[in-house]
Amino acid sequence: MNSKDVVVKTPVVLPESGVPVDVDFDYAELLARYDEERDARLARPTSRSKGADAHDEEALRTWDPYAPRFDREGVDLDLDVVVLGGGFGGITAGKWLKEQGIDNFRIVEQASDFGGTWYWNRYPGAQCDVQSYLYLPYLEESGYMPTKKYVGGKEIFEHAQRLGRLFDIYPNALFQTVVSDVRWDESHNAWVIATDRGDTIRAKFVIRANGPFSKPQYPTVPGIDDFKGKIIHTSRWDYQYTGGDQDLPLDKLRDKRVALIGTGATGIQVAPHLADAAEQVFVVQRTPALVAERNNAPTDPDWVATLTPGWQSQMHENFTDQLSGLVHVEDLVQDVWTQIYRALPGHDLVDVDVSSLPEKDQIHLSILSDLKIVNAVRERVDRTVSNPETAEALKPWFGVVCKRPGFHDEYLPIFNKESVTLINARQGLDRITENGFVANGVEHEVDCLIFATGFETGPHTVGSYGYEILGRDGRNLREHFAGGLKTLHGFFSRDFPNLIELGLSQNAFNVHYTYMLDRKARHATRMIKHALDADIVSFEPTHEAESEWGEVVRLAGESHAAYQATCTPGYYNGQGNVTQGIFREIYQAPDRDYWGLIEEWWENGEFTGLELNKNG
Ligand code: NAP
Repeated sequence: MNSKDVVVKTPVVLPESGVPVDVDFDYAELLARYDEERDARLARPTSRSKGADAHDEEALRTWDPYAPRFDREGVDLDLDVVVLGGGFGGITAGKWLKEQGIDNFRIVEQASDFGGTWYWNRYPGAQCDVQSYLYLPYLEESGYMPTKKYVGGKEIFEHAQRLGRLFDIYPNALFQTVVSDVRWDESHNAWVIATDRGDTIRAKFVIRANGPFSKPQYPTVPGIDDFKGKIIHTSRWDYQYTGGDQDLPLDKLRDKRVALIGTGATGIQVAPHLADAAEQVFVVQRTPALVAERNNAPTDPDWVATLTPGWQSQMHENFTDQLSGLVHVEDLVQDVWTQIYRALPGHDLVDVDVSSLPEKDQIHLSILSDLKIVNAVRERVDRTVSNPETAEALKPWFGVVCKRPGFHDEYLPIFNKESVTLINARQGLDRITENGFVANGVEHEVDCLIFATGFETGPHTVGSYGYEILGRDGRNLREHFAGGLKTLHGFFSRDFPNLIELGLSQNAFNVHYTYMLDRKARHATRMIKHALDADIVSFEPTHEAESEWGEVVRLAGESHAAYQATCTPGYYNGQGNVTQGIFREIYQAPDRDYWGLIEEWWENGEFTGLELNKNG
């Protein structure tokens, strides 16, 4: 969305077709403002490195505040499959392995239970942002109906546990176990997995389901180790300190001054709970969040009564189709995601069929529509926040999908409270002191610093996730991926036989994450089943297949990369370095097309691009 690409005309007409567009704002001015805000934020880029001021991230990552550590002896196992990670990716992999009749597997998980991100992120206010009726997988199979349109983290975690019981995968779990390395043993055509528990596990196949947000990060701010008060990262909440729980008020904060650092999807969910409880709250904002409506509501029993078998799959497909651009289908979901994606092509801005317009005009129209959507978000800030200066500071100046959009109805109103102060620190914190923090050159004393500063994520993390993967001839996956991911369809990599990746790696992305994981797990386990049945001891892609798929992904991602390059920094665009952004290594194609391609690959029966090696 570069201002230089848009031809300024008044009234607005599309540059190639001359079709008039119904917009009532000065779009050139808006785009210039977007560029200005992005450049100002980029003036001090976020460098993430393990330095003296990175605080103790390793301790943070390995600390489990929710369960005591139990003792167990190391195990020595020969398995068909090891699944690394017990979040919804690991749960779905377990479910599909069992469906395929494979029971000789373990799910290795650092936490003390299933749930993944919902095990760790127990901060007050955590909720799914894709509707519960979609986000909570296997509702029909489990007979469970969520209590609300968007349920809290506790209910989602409980559902993960419910599925663990339903699919009978608890006996397959090795909890509180951290993988240290994973090595290919060529002589046995097996992976050997070592853990911090002294386990030695040999497995014919490995499924990686680590999740992109497993490594919490503190910002690199000088002085973080000097702070004498309490430090909390949102992904390791300390209810002993704050009081309350995921449902109850944080009663121990009544006499506390608290700073919340970070206003991403997490920060905006936590903030209202702090504002309700603490004596004083400073919300330290570097980039304003884009906060759209949420419209949460209890589940309507009349709606539930209308549901017929297959309803959840139908909703998954409907949601996915709409977010893939099929906006003429009926909207069965009716949430802000579908509203945004239905509006983005700009149908309501012109009197002609958008698909009949030249491609360049379609892009221009989409830019205008994007601006209109975010205008409405900015107007909502003005309507909600009474202090005009604060309202101005809370307005986002970037495209609607530059960052994960936030959906919240209680966040903006907190800025009307006496006890809440917005610290508009465009360049982030200056430093942390013994007694508080310094932003914009001013020190504020606080008792507690709460970091909602996210996770280390991006394509550079896929090769390792904290443990080394050593493939054929000791080749390191991290190094294999150093110049960019190399995969076939996002799942398989050369010299790393029988290793299947479920993460964000050159496959199609769906904001409906659990649905995406389910599809990936189905494909992964189907491949394993085929290999076991056909006596295939190893499979891996050819070099050619890897580079061809890499080219397909690169070409499909060009326009999205161009959009991301115009965005304010965040993990979506590698903090301003698009090649490091999470979406640069995503296959930017509609979900239906991607899975259609995978289905064709199966139907074709040739396993094109994969080398299949049989015993002997
Ligand atoms: P995030 O999106 O990476 O946001 C981190 C926040 O911390 C940003 O506001 C960032 O500012 C700020 N920050 C980082 N370093 C800072 C510094 N030195 N000084 C001041 N501020 C600093 O992390 P997140 O909010 O935890 O969300 C991560 C992802 O988890 C989301 O995108 C989403 O996919 C998922 N999530 C989903 C839900 C849900 O509703 N289902 C809820 C929470 C999270 P800048 O923007 O300027 O970088």
